[in-house]
Amino acid sequence: GAVIGILGGGQLGRMLSVAASRLGFKTHIFEPGANPPAADVAHAVTTAAYEDEAALRAFAASVDVITYEFENVPTSALDLLETLKPIRPNRRALAISQDRLREKAFLSDLGLSTAPYAAVDDSIDLAEAIAEIGCPAILKTRRFGYDGKGQAVIRAPEEGEAALASLSGAPAVYEGFVDFQSEISVIGARGLDGAIACFDPGQNVHSNGILHTTTVPATISPSQRTDAVLIAAKILNKLDYVGVIGVELFVTKDALIVNEFAPRVHNSGHWTQAGCAVDQFEQHIRAITGWPLGDGSRHADVEMENLIGDDMDRVPELASKPRTQIHLYGKAEVKPGRKMGHINRIL
Ligand code: ATP
Ligand code: MG
Ligand code: MG
Repeated sequence: GAVIGILGGGQLGRMLSVAASRLGFKTHIFEPGANPPAADVAHAVTTAAYEDEAALRAFAASVDVITYEFENVPTSALDLLETLKPIRPNRRALAISQDRLREKAFLSDLGLSTAPYAAVDDSIDLAEAIAEIGCPAILKTRRFGYDGKGQAVIRAPEEGEAALASLSGAPAVYEGFVDFQSEISVIGARGLDGAIACFDPGQNVHSNGILHTTTVPATISPSQRTDAVLIAAKILNKLDYVGVIGVELFVTKDALIVNEFAPRVHNSGHWTQAGCAVDQFEQHIRAITGWPLGDGSRHADVEMENLIGDDMDRVPELASKPRTQIHLYGKAEVKPGRKMGHINRIL
């Protein structure tokens, strides 16, 4: 079987490696940090910086296709790697998702709804954005944000300057607050042949900016379900995408509003491990290796819950629960806010 190169060795890389292995593939992880979660299950690991050109070349030489579980791979590394082996999903999808401003512009150009937004680089932009869009709002760094990091809520105009200062001068996007009824996400996939398959949308609940639970089915109407899947398909086609994508949506009374997309397997897609014959990890491996996409239809109602920090103390109790699938990432150190594992409860 072919060898799949994965940039990033976190839990997503770990679960991708397990899925790859089941299909007879080997994985080679490239990760700057020592002892990443994926190292336990991958066939090869390179521990090197993204600036290490010789290490990147050796990595590329040992694999047939390159994918990633981590979006913030430096551009210089990707520039080199793409001359050596195919990168799937492609560079454009990655570049757009790395920059919230580009992402919002891309989505609106596609005719999709986003929160009202404006670029904010300084106090003048900020004052204009507050005047134009109003409050409440969220100021988000354009790049490198995840799990709600790099964000500040602005409830009233006078909170603007403090919010801007809290981002230490990083280029930002001002987003009007969306008064949503619920948050859902669509985990979609597009194959090398252009075929598309989407999993049933899941309903997401966040706590302190971090995903807490995803439940399927989401409490949305049949037409909202169809619309959500069509939105994901539109994005996949426009990007000529190959692989799995996670599209986060706000559900309001009268619209589906796209929050952001992640060009990779997604935390809110972990329920597929217990709810589908082919889960998001296998689906991604299938897509990037040119296999036909698998059957992602849902055969169970599932609630996925993240195990964060001290939630690890609950594992002995959870282990005795019926209809409960436990996934632990093998992280040595427990830290507050750190994703240590998740459970899939079959409802
Ligand atoms: P992720 O870990 O999903 O990548 P992130 O750091 O990129 O998170 P967002 O997804 O932009 O952050 O925001 C995190 C959460 O904050 C959202 O899921 C939602 O609950 C809330 N949120 C973000 N933007 C808005 C908005 N414009 N209106 C209302 N709520 C919002
Ligand atoms: Mg994000
Ligand atoms: Mg998000």
